[in-house]
Amino acid sequence: MKILKKEYSILFGDQSASYVKHSLKGCTQKELSSKPPFSDFAGMPLVFLNQVHGTKGYCIDTPAAAQIAPYAFDGDYMVTTLLGVALVVETADCVPLVLLDSVKMVAALVHAGWRGAIGGIVTNALHDMFMRGSAPEDIQAFCGPAARGCCYEVGKDFKQLFRETSAFIVRDGRIFFDNVSYITGQLETMGIGKHHIFLNNAACTICSEGYCSYRRQGSLQLRQMTIVALK
Ligand SMILES: [Zn+2]
Repeated sequence: MKILKKEYSILFGDQSASYVKHSLKGCTQKELSSKPPFSDFAGMPLVFLNQVHGTKGYCIDTPAAAQIAPYAFDGDYMVTTLLGVALVVETADCVPLVLLDSVKMVAALVHAGWRGAIGGIVTNALHDMFMRGSAPEDIQAFCGPAARGCCYEVGKDFKQLFRETSAFIVRDGRIFFDNVSYITGQLETMGIGKHHIFLNNAACTICSEGYCSYRRQGSLQLRQMTIVALK
């Protein structure tokens, strides 16, 4: 699914253009830009981090900072103020979260698994946007495909890790977690308006065919790409 606006492009990819986790290591920018879905962003540097389910990010405020090899730095979110830089995350059940301020022109892309979300990665990315002049009322948030509350079964011990429990659903004595809902709550706490939070691309990767899902596919290890660029 592509969202194309005058100020930005977002691509929420699926299994049709997926890659085995970390398999793009060693690719040059030229090689990357000839592969789908990256070819949609041809001509822009593509920035990938080595995702570690942490809460740290990488800020790209200079053209030099965009010229890094795929997976050269550890981190789980990127923030940029530059036009024409394509931020990329790989996911298979974790939430790809795009944050966009098209007033001050600041973009962020977050790889938000439950560990990152509980650790504050969404807040960290928003703070980096605020430091670059963004105001909460100008930020739009788009969640991509992720494991949702219809399928993402967890145990009691998992639930006890969370203070906020509204993202859990109990059905027939089984507990399900919806990380998209958990992240939405965090966005609202940080001042992002409900009307600026878009979930129409947040299909459940476990029960929707066509998406990579770690839980459904196990050892297959395929990852779908989410890409965002200011333009
Ligand atoms: Zn589902």
